Amino acid sequence: MRYSIMFGKTRHDPPCDADSVNAKLLAQAGFVEKLAAGIYNYLPLGKRVLTKIEGIIREEMHSVGGQELLLPALHPVALWKKSGRDETMNDILYRTSASGNKEFVFGPSHEEAVTPLAAKYVQSYKDLPLSLYQIQSKFRDEPRAKSGVLRGREFGMKDMYSFHVSDEDLDKYYEEVMTAYSRVFDRCGLTAHVVEASGGAFSDKYSHEFSVETSAGEDTIIICKKCKSSQNLEVAEGNVVDPDGTDEKELSLEEIDIERGFSVSDNAEAHGVPEHKILKTVVYEVDGGGLLGVVIRGDLSVSGVKLENYIKKPLRPASPETLKKVSLIQGYISPVNMPDGVGISFIGDNSIKNIKNFVTGANAFGKDYKNANLGRDFVIDDFADLVEVSSGFECAKCGTSLTEIKAVEVGNIFKLGTKYSEAFGLNFTDSDGKSKPVVMGCYGIGTTRLAGTIVEASHDDKGIIWPMSVAPYHVHMLTLGNDDTSFAAAEKLSSELEEAGIEVLFDDRDERAGVKLNDADLIGIPVRVVVSKRSLENGGVEFKMRDSEDSDIVEIDEILEKVKNLITK
Ligand code: ATP
Ligand code: MG
Repeated sequence: MRYSIMFGKTRHDPPCDADSVNAKLLAQAGFVEKLAAGIYNYLPLGKRVLTKIEGIIREEMHSVGGQELLLPALHPVALWKKSGRDETMNDILYRTSASGNKEFVFGPSHEEAVTPLAAKYVQSYKDLPLSLYQIQSKFRDEPRAKSGVLRGREFGMKDMYSFHVSDEDLDKYYEEVMTAYSRVFDRCGLTAHVVEASGGAFSDKYSHEFSVETSAGEDTIIICKKCKSSQNLEVAEGNVVDPDGTDEKELSLEEIDIERGFSVSDNAEAHGVPEHKILKTVVYEVDGGGLLGVVIRGDLSVSGVKLENYIKKPLRPASPETLKKVSLIQGYISPVNMPDGVGISFIGDNSIKNIKNFVTGANAFGKDYKNANLGRDFVIDDFADLVEVSSGFECAKCGTSLTEIKAVEVGNIFKLGTKYSEAFGLNFTDSDGKSKPVVMGCYGIGTTRLAGTIVEASHDDKGIIWPMSVAPYHVHMLTLGNDDTSFAAAEKLSSELEEAGIEVLFDDRDERAGVKLNDADLIGIPVRVVVSKRSLENGGVEFKMRDSEDSDIVEIDEILEKVKNLITK
């Protein structure tokens, strides 16, 4: 391909509203062009990368028996009412109406389309297992479309759905897909952490997320480098490290007047104690009535998801108005001498068990207690692991210090069970003659997000560094000096390589060498071949990998073999 005629060129500066590395580099290098927030044009270079990513995904989905089809993007709203997601996903659904008062939904996901389709063909256990997938645009009215192509309103996804006679069969297949997913990310040059996700509060959903470490990611995950395990921050387990002083003697409780701010750090400073010595009470309103005070070390935070999972009722932080109604004063609430009649119960995080002589509020403005001790000055009936784990906690399995990283979710797999087959009457006749609902799984990979993630994970200050497997072209060819001899040699070599199946982007522009070299770095094609009078005099062309500083002079006859080896590696 000649760069001079290629549609979409590099630009001198990134767009001023680019909020992330991928947004900057993909636009500046001519891969994408933003149409509106979260909506992108993919230019020829960008489309080539997507096609390569999709090719890898197709191969791996075929390796687990996936059959490709294409489902419609427009779904009659009746299907979404049937599954209940018309309401539960209302916030992100794009809707449209058509003649005859018909209403449609732009598919944010396709369970509602694939399940009734499968019901038309699946009758007996002999039709199962079955696995169907597509690669298609999805539509979600994301409240915050940001980070370039990482969070779009229209974005590409591979979604696969599997159908089974039993949970056991689904379990087996789920494991196979999990391995195939790891191969996909591996082949894209990424290290994906497999995160077991509880699916949030009271969810019996069983799912795994595949997450790639990047500062542009919106998720926080907790990893143990030794066990190679990854956990979702919201539900991560880990052991709190006890500070020194757990063997202190209990001193006598004192009530004191104090002038201080409301935060834990203000409080610790006013008392001259470390934050872990503050006994913090976080008050929640429980659905259906009642207040719940969660008592935890001042330097730690409560995990809302762990708490909801434990209480098994939805709850939310108590509002200032609610607290006022029962005369509780924010910042001074504690289980020590709680006045009667407030209607609050307490639950303790395990972290408070080993600390002596806490500082805590005295349930009155400007009054605190010093030396409050569990059992003697306050009683907690119920303890649980309610703490939000962070860096420095110890792995519950091996004791290694845990690390908190920012990550982006590139894939997500779920065991759906019979939720959709029951909603859409997808049943089969089993070998025992009984009719049963089909057991389903679903498996997503964000194809456009994956392209953005690769850029976030693989770039330097000059531009993108594409792994060979997904690069838009294998070789970026250019000449220095624009003399006829070099140009003719570059042109000939480009054609020879192309005939042998190597993809070449030939920068044939009459531009300064510096401009062409900078553009090659910005675009990020793995192999750069520079032809110049000097290189020809030295017996060949200059050969350089984008991810290396060194270049070699390689004989023209050897280039094809060298690139072929790099592609098949
Ligand atoms: P997120 O938590 O990031 O919003 P999600 O859990 O809602 O994602 P899924 O429904 O699991 O997403 O979709 C499957 C995959 O599609 C995700 O793992 C991600 O790679 C991709 N994806 C989801 N939403 C977007 C988006 N707005 N833009 C680009 N890719 C997305
Ligand atoms: Mg997800």
